[in-house]
Amino acid sequence: MDSELRPLAPGVYAYLQPPGGWCVSNAGLLTGAGSAALIDTTATESRARRLYDTAVATAGRSPGIVVNTHHHGDHTFGNFVFAGEATVIAHEAARTEMADKGTGLRRVWPDVGWGEISVALPDLTFTERLSLHIGDLHAELRYVGPAHTSNDVVVWLPEHGVLFAGDVLMAGATPFVLMGSLSGSLQAVAALRRLPGLHTVVCGHGPVCGPEVLDVTEGYLTWLAAVAADGVRRGWNPLEAARRADLGEFATLTEPERLVANLHRAYAEERGAPRGIHLPSAPAFDEMVAYNGGRPLTCRA
Ligand SMILES: [Zn+2]
Repeated sequence: MDSELRPLAPGVYAYLQPPGGWCVSNAGLLTGAGSAALIDTTATESRARRLYDTAVATAGRSPGIVVNTHHHGDHTFGNFVFAGEATVIAHEAARTEMADKGTGLRRVWPDVGWGEISVALPDLTFTERLSLHIGDLHAELRYVGPAHTSNDVVVWLPEHGVLFAGDVLMAGATPFVLMGSLSGSLQAVAALRRLPGLHTVVCGHGPVCGPEVLDVTEGYLTWLAAVAADGVRRGWNPLEAARRADLGEFATLTEPERLVANLHRAYAEERGAPRGIHLPSAPAFDEMVAYNGGRPLTCRA
């Protein structure tokens, strides 16, 4: 269980958990005179407690603010470790999803050592934008969903050109839009492109990268839309379309099985479904396993 705290700018840190993948997520830490803010809280109790110790050792205090980039458990299950001392902030719809889903994600990977996690819901929610001031640091929380989920928030530090992207962007990994929107993801990527001076991106999973992750993500999503349009036209179901698709340049991205789940979303939108409408996720997860030749999805959390 490796982790690394990497300084990106004065008071700005990426908390990286290699190698990424399902449920092994990154976090961020912002420190300034008299305060500290954490971005996401990892998936398991032991990972969250390690993150807590790292944050306190670095900031000299426990974070008074926790931002959740979206509701997924691998970014929020650790909230309870921080919640007694922190105000937890998220998008309004993230709070609803967290209350609704609880710790259900554990059932997908029952063998993971989740620990004694309990759901700690956000204390403060917003819908579009919020500004954080951590000492001299200025961070903008911006809603860019529905994209990866209905409730994606990115954290942008305009003075430093640093973006914490949550799972809207995933370095070296296959995008995942089953629970959000394909067209919304493309719109989010376009919006992030317009951030002036963007040069460093901390994705929800994977290594620190630069704006090139926008190109890869947009390329994959555009290709995905074409695969979906073709599959719908030919009458193939998502699993069949996925099996027939040539991943091409995207074969190097990890978690290629997400193609099947992404096609469930892309098919719905191809047929006119509104962005972010609920789709059942269990059939898509079953089909990702089928796409993998019956092997369970790898989770190293
Ligand atoms: Zn996620």
